[in-house]
Order: sequence, then structure tokens, then C-alpha cells
Amino acid sequence: MKRLLSLFTLIYCLNVVPSSAHTLFSGGRSSYHIVVAADASTTERYAAKELQNWLQQVGGVKLAVVDERKGIRGKRILVGFGNEVKKLVQTARPKADDQGFVYGNVGGDIYIYGGKEIGTLYGVYTFLENEMGCRWYTKDFSIAPRKKRYEFTKLYDKEEPAFQSRDLYYFDAFDADWTLRNKTCGRRNSKKTEFGKIQVPSEAFWSTHTFNKLCKPELYFKSHPEYFSQRNGKRTTDQLCLSNKNVLQICIKSIKEVMTQYPYFLIYSVTQNDNQNPCQCKECKKLVKKYGGESGAMIWFVNQVAAAVEKDFPNKYIGTFAYQYTRSAPQGIKPRQNVVIRLCSIECCFSHSIRNCRQNTAFLDDLKAWNRISPHLYIWDYVTTFQQYLLPFPNIKVLQSNLQTFRAHNAIGVMEEGSYDVPGGDFAELKAYLLAKLLWNPDVDADAIIDEFINAYYGKAAPQMKEYLALVNGLVTKDTHLKCMTTIYHGRSTYTDVFINRALAILTRAEKAAESSTVRDRVQLQKMVPAYMQCRVMTKEAVKAGNYKLIQTVASKNKIDRFAEGGSLKDPKAFYEMMNKVKK
Ligand SMILES: [Zn+2]
Ligand SMILES: [Zn+2]
Repeated sequence: MKRLLSLFTLIYCLNVVPSSAHTLFSGGRSSYHIVVAADASTTERYAAKELQNWLQQVGGVKLAVVDERKGIRGKRILVGFGNEVKKLVQTARPKADDQGFVYGNVGGDIYIYGGKEIGTLYGVYTFLENEMGCRWYTKDFSIAPRKKRYEFTKLYDKEEPAFQSRDLYYFDAFDADWTLRNKTCGRRNSKKTEFGKIQVPSEAFWSTHTFNKLCKPELYFKSHPEYFSQRNGKRTTDQLCLSNKNVLQICIKSIKEVMTQYPYFLIYSVTQNDNQNPCQCKECKKLVKKYGGESGAMIWFVNQVAAAVEKDFPNKYIGTFAYQYTRSAPQGIKPRQNVVIRLCSIECCFSHSIRNCRQNTAFLDDLKAWNRISPHLYIWDYVTTFQQYLLPFPNIKVLQSNLQTFRAHNAIGVMEEGSYDVPGGDFAELKAYLLAKLLWNPDVDADAIIDEFINAYYGKAAPQMKEYLALVNGLVTKDTHLKCMTTIYHGRSTYTDVFINRALAILTRAEKAAESSTVRDRVQLQKMVPAYMQCRVMTKEAVKAGNYKLIQTVASKNKIDRFAEGGSLKDPKAFYEMMNKVKK
């Protein structure tokens, strides 16, 4: 027995490959071909190219990409569900729009396939992540670890996304490559490749408040004021008169035109305008009474639109808001199968999870009520403070729990809205990456991802960055309820001078620990946060420490032109004025 054990140890130590193992590459050589299906889509041809590219970076060998009709036998990586894969796996072809994928091996052959539109490409990227250790942390920072050899005996992974739509609003998440590689949907964009244009998965929704787009006041108000909402006896263009039969027909016609013209969205908004003035006419009031509130009249209307488009657009949805005057769920009526309710968490506390804060009880009750009657929900969630991007926003511990809550309530999609219009903000790069992983699978090991990201991205400064993250997380007590419009002034009991000084001290040590100018730049992007706080509330100290200068330098290097959403708020302008004063 002892001898047998030592034999095993010897084999292990010598890294001797068991006879059943297959060698994909070794010492910069490989006998493998990448084989694409004869009817491969543009995306699948690109997937083969990406596989070739990243495998070359890892293994130092460029595998030839060939068509399956060439009849290569054995030692193949088959990309896309073609005839050769069909023979190997003997299963049905996945639907074109299936975002899921499978990869595995039969003997020495490796197969990777999913839906033609995007699933196969996701399969390739996941294979590269899982098996080769590739990572696409930010749009400018990827890893392809160099390997001398790669052997396998049994490969298998099958994945489906937790949410059909994974809308991620962070600056990096609008980069086409990053989005594709991390399997998220973002702003509508496409990628030019040598095989043709690839449509990056679009955000789920066509538009937001749409009543005025579907039934245009400039076309109809003069001739048909009765199409619009009656307020205090007068017709106004605030909302539509939902009980009017012509309004319904106009909206159906308009939304069908939109669905034909912009076919790449999943959900098409038939949604109230952004004000609180629903129609008060006699017929509308009857509907409101009959269906337990304004949301009842809305669902009655939206259901009819959804019924009218269902036949022509079988895989699409009509979406409407549960928002302000329609936020509570109706009674005696349910959204149809092809209706999506879009519930937004804007009033929530984000430093505690939705399930564990009394300030979130009302939202959770609405979520439950809508889930009881809705076939599908979509959540618009907020993951930063939009008033001041450069504030610590200690929500990293609740992201996973909240996404699990959304999944448990049948959300088909989630929008995670972060600091999307500029780089930087509280751990923005880390949060974008973590959220991408959680949107695909809310059960991944979030702590391990955070740890891995910080080690890779911050290099020798990683210990200090972890110390700083712990300090940020420590801002949350049971009484700290941070909202997505929090500012440093609202939260001075949280954002104290003591915190600012500690944070600056840690990040100054991190700057010193950084092994390269690249890593130091990343640290300084984060150091902008406490530096900004100091500039706002401890002006003299900020001048002395050179933190105005730091912000100007880092902002200009990263093309950061605002410190709050949209740049339309007063705060960034005032801040720039303040900085200029100091400069003079
Ligand atoms: Zn009305
Ligand atoms: Zn709270």
C-alpha cells in the first residue's frame, strides 16, 4: 500500500499525464484545429477567432480555424452547433436566441455551443475563463495567464443566465468587448468584426415614459382633446385617456411600428408620462374603481396592447411602470403573459439589503404583491449615489442578496444603474465586474471575486485597497440608511472627518505600495473619493495636502468631466469653481 501511494505521489510530482488525458497544447505546440459549423453565424465565426486569439496568448500557439466541411477528424475544438457537434452530442440544436451554452469533450474533441446569436460566444468566453484563467476585469485590463501546457480528461459546463436581461450601467460596461466578454447587456452598440457587425446584447427596454411618443399631442390634441387626460374638468396633455377606444388603437399601431423598426429590444414601453396627473374622466374613474386603483386602469389598457401585438411579436414583451401613482398592485386584474412590470427601487435604503431593512419593507411588499399577479417583473435598481459619485457607497455586501431577492420574485431582467457617464467613483471598476458576474449567476462566491479582482487590479497595493474597502464597509451600522441621492452633507454622521483622514492615510500608503504607474493611477482614481470629500468639508486641509491638485490631475487624465449624474446638477459646477479659486 505504502509503495502504491508513493507511486501515485511520484506520478503526481512528475506531472505525468494519465493515459486518458488529452493535451490541448504543450510547449507552444498543438495538434488541435478550431472547427466552425458550416452554417455558423457571424457571432460564431467571431467566437472562433476570439478563441484562437486568447488561446494563443495563453498557450503561445495559434490554432488554425477551419470549416467543418474540411472533414478534420479528432483533436478539434468545435465551435457552434454544426453537424459535427450534432454527431458528437446527439441532442437538439439550441434556439438561436438561447443565451445559454454547453461545453464539454468527447474523447479528445472539445465542443462549445449555445444559441447562434450570442450563446456560443458566451460559451467560448466562459471556457476561456474557467479552463484557461482568462479575465476581462476592466475595458483596459485583461489577463491571459501564460501556460506551458494544458491537459484535460473530462470537461463539462452548462450554463443559463439567471436573468434574460442583464442591464449594467457602468462606464466600463458600455465597452462592446467588455460587455460581450462579461455577458452583460448595456447601451445599444455593435462591434465591427472581419466577419461582419455583431450586435451587442441591447438593454432590455425600448424607452421609458412613452405615452406622448405613442399618441403624440402635436398630432392629436387640437383635433381630439378627448384622447388626453381630463384634469379638473379640462383636457391636458399630461397623460392619456385610457378608456378612449381610439387611444388604444393609436397606441397599438405606434408600438407595432416601433417593434418593427427596432427589433432588438426585449421589452417595449407603454408607460405613463413622468407626472402624477392621470385622467379623471368618468369612464377612466370607473376603471380605477373597478380594478382597485390607477394601476388597475393602466394594466387594463396595457393588457389590450399586449394582446394585440402577441401574434406578430411572440417573443417580445410590453412593459409598463409600477411607479408613483401606479406603484401599488391592482385588484381583480392581472398583467397578461406578455406584460412586464418594471418596478424601481429608487426610494430604497442601499446600505442594507432589501430583505433586511425596515426602510425597504414597503418596496418588498410591492415586489411581493406584483409578483403574486405578474408573470414577469423587471427591476430597475440603483448602485451608487447620483448626487455625488465620489462618495463611498458601502453597498458591495448587499448586491448579491438583492439580486437573489429579484430572482426569487421572478424578475426576467435587472438594470443595475451605477456611475455610468464617467469613469471612477466608489470601487466602480470592481463593482461593474462583480455585478456582471452576479447578474449572470447570483450564487457565485462574491467574496472570492472581490478578493481576486483587488489582487489582480491593484497588485502590490492590494493589501491597502482591501484595508480601505473594509473601512468603507465599516461605515454601515444598523442605523445607516444610504439612499441613491445621498450627499456628504446629508450623511455627515456617516461621512465623518475621522473617516476621511483614515481613508486618505490608507490610500496614500497604497499609492506608495503600487509597483507601477498603471497601478498607482488605479489607486489614485479611488483616492479621488476621500480627496473629494476633504475638498468639500475640510478645505484648508485639502489645499495643504494637495488634494485639489490630485483631483484635477486624475480627472483630466481619465477625462472625468462631472462628479454627479448628467453634469446637469449644480454640485459639479460649484466644485469646479471652487477648484479654480484655489488654483488662482
Ligand atoms: Zn379618461
Ligand atoms: Zn437601511
